[in-house]
Order: sequence, then structure tokens, then C-alpha cells
Amino acid sequence: MNLYISRKAQSISPSSTLAIDAKFKAMKAKGIDVVGFGAGEPDFDTPSHIKEAAIKAINDGFTKYTPASGMPQLKQAVCRKLKRDNGLDYSPEQIVISNGAKHSLVNVFTAICDPGDEVIIPAPFWVSYPEMVKLADGVPVYVHTTEENGFKFTIEDLKKAITPRTRALILNSPSNPTGMVYTRDELKKIAEVAVENNIYVISDEIYEKLIYDGMEHVSIASFGDEIKDLTIIVNGVSKTYAMTGWRIGYTASNAQIAKVMGNVQSHATSNPNSMAQVASITALDGPQEDIEIMKKAFVERRDYMVDRINSIEGLSCVKPQGAFYVLMNIKKILGSEFYGTEINTSDEFADVLLEKAKVALVPGSGFGAEGYVRWSYATSMENIIEGLNRVEKFIKNEL
Ligand code: PMP
Ligand code: GLU
Repeated sequence: MNLYISRKAQSISPSSTLAIDAKFKAMKAKGIDVVGFGAGEPDFDTPSHIKEAAIKAINDGFTKYTPASGMPQLKQAVCRKLKRDNGLDYSPEQIVISNGAKHSLVNVFTAICDPGDEVIIPAPFWVSYPEMVKLADGVPVYVHTTEENGFKFTIEDLKKAITPRTRALILNSPSNPTGMVYTRDELKKIAEVAVENNIYVISDEIYEKLIYDGMEHVSIASFGDEIKDLTIIVNGVSKTYAMTGWRIGYTASNAQIAKVMGNVQSHATSNPNSMAQVASITALDGPQEDIEIMKKAFVERRDYMVDRINSIEGLSCVKPQGAFYVLMNIKKILGSEFYGTEINTSDEFADVLLEKAKVALVPGSGFGAEGYVRWSYATSMENIIEGLNRVEKFIKNEL
């Protein structure tokens, strides 16, 4: 049978992070001794006071539809969080609660893109951004950054990428996959360019709490009313509270955009899970100590991983300042033969490594970072040591 698939759907590639994770889990289920560094999700359990809030919500019968764009109480908790952590004043009608920050981002592009509108995406980027832009009939425009510049774009690069069709810039600080963090001064200059050119800034702040070495997270929305009006903050509970499976994300934006996103969501999904919303109120309003515990573990793991990678001949990486990823440079070993196969791309490297060393890393190709592979250090130190031992042996052809 000749089944028709729309051109748009055919143009969307699968998420490479989730594909590697699925491969890793399938191998593990077969009893294969594989070590996974694929999908980035905290290995910590959701704190118990948050779980208890959800259990109580179920027992109390809080099992019905809520308003499509989220419960007023959760929107208020998000407003309190934005004030407390980011010094920003928002009101509940400016907040939309969605099924994870991924869903929030899809809503954002749907709300702001007309066909052919351009969205500037600094590369390396998180795998889903270009596909989400394409889903909204937008056109991804890449601004390339280099390792030498700490994976940061310059103001000149940004200005060159802006055209009359530019609708938005995506900012992701701390970044997945580079771990780069923009400073207050850098953000201020980016805000000026956005205001001058009247373009939205989609500020994905999902890793804001996972930031190290005394760096501070600054939301670009905090540089005055004009940039605040143009900024759409995207955040969620997945990373900060080890709540990836609960699927709660949110946006803070001007009220007009929030309204249309709520309209879209009311047809697409209705409300996000009711008990997960209650649990998220507890996450945002409750004790925050668990974040520090996770952060401490992430710093130890990062330091070990970075030192080990840089001690292996042919591999290198810069030290990330946030999130929980290391982008490993494999350019020196490309073109060499490993176990009878010449490896020329990050995809080939990840494939042969998984097959021979049973280590799952995500190829840089999906992140706009050919010549790199991504590790996630949101996994135990034991796994990290084992994974690096295997990679070292693999590189030395000693497996
Ligand atoms: N933004 C970035 C940069 C991410 O890495 C992720 C991955 N979890 C998300 C958004 C989406 O997070 P979630 O949908 O789990 O809230
Ligand atoms: N954002 C995480 C990652 O990049 C989770 C997987 C995904 O949603 O892409 O690994």
C-alpha cells in the first residue's frame, strides 16, 4: 500500500537523545552490560515531600480536569518563584503550564511563527529546537559558535543573522549540550539587539539551578520592560527537582502570547496532569535543599569527567559551567580506524563505541556539533568511571 505521509512530518527527524536512550534501555533489558550517558535526566529520585503532595492529591480526589493552561494556584507559585529567584514580576495570566518544557516550547513557536518566519538558533543547540521550529512552519537560522569562544556567539554574529523575517532568537543558558553560561554583561548586549530589532527572545532557563563555579543565572527578561515584553521564559520542574517523568513545564511571557498559547493548548492537550501540577506547587514553594545536594554531586562528576577526558590522547573537552553535559571533541581521532572500521563522523563514533565498548553517547550531529559527542553526567560516579575506562580502552584499541 502507498501510504501518504505529510511533507512536514517527513521533514522531522527523531530526537537523537531519546533514540540513544531507547537503544541503551533495549540493550540493558536484554542483559547486555551497557553504560548509558544518553538522555540527560537527573539520576536522583524526586524528593519525598513532592511525591507525598501528589499522593495526597490523588487521595483527595484531585483527579479531574483543571483549567487548560494550568491551575491558578500553580501559576501563582510560578509567579512567586520568578520574583524570588529572578527578581521578575509576573501575574498569573502571563503564565502557561504545559506538559513539560518541551511542550511549552512547541506552544511558543506555534504562537509566534508564521510560515517562513526565521528563528535564530545558536549552534551547538539542543536537538529539538530546529525540529520544533519546522513543526511551526518556521525556518531555523543557525549562528555557529566555536569551542575557542567558549561556544558563545558574538553580537556581530547575531546582527549578521538578523533579517526582516527574523521573528525570534533562542537563548539557552546554561546550555544543553555545551554547558556554557552567558554573563550578565553578555545578556545585556543581546537584549539591546533584540529590542532594537523587535525580535522575541525565547529564553530556555530549564538548567538555571544547575550552575557552578560561582556563576550566577540571570534571566534576560530582567533588563527592563521592553526586553521583558519580548522575552518568553521557558522553564520547568524536570531538571531542578528530578521530575522528568512528571511532565510539567511553564512559560512566562506577555499576556497576549500567554493567551494564544493557552488557546492552542486547550485544543491540543487540555490541562497537564492534575496531580503533577499539585506536586509542582510543592516543588516550587517547598524546601529547596535537595537542589544543593544534586549540584554538589554534579560538580564532582563533572570535574572527574573533564579531567579524565583531557588525559586521553586524541580527546578533549572544555569545562562546562552549567547543566549536566560534557561535549567531547573527537576531531583528532576522526579518519582513524577502530576495530576494522574507519570512523569519520560523530554518528559512526557513537555507533562503533556502543557496539564495541557498550557505552552510549549521543553523536554531536543532532546538536549541530559534528566532530563532538555528548556525555551526560547525570548518572552515578560508578557509571562515569566505568564509561571512561571503556572509552579510554576503546581509543587505545585495547578492548
Ligand atoms: N530545554 C532543554 C535545553 C532541555 O535539555 C530539555 C530536556 N529535558 C527541555 C527543554 C525539556 O524538558 P522537559 O520537557 O522535560 O521539561
Ligand atoms: N533534554 C534531555 C537531553 O537532552 C532529555 C531528552 C530530551 O528530551 O531530549 O538529553
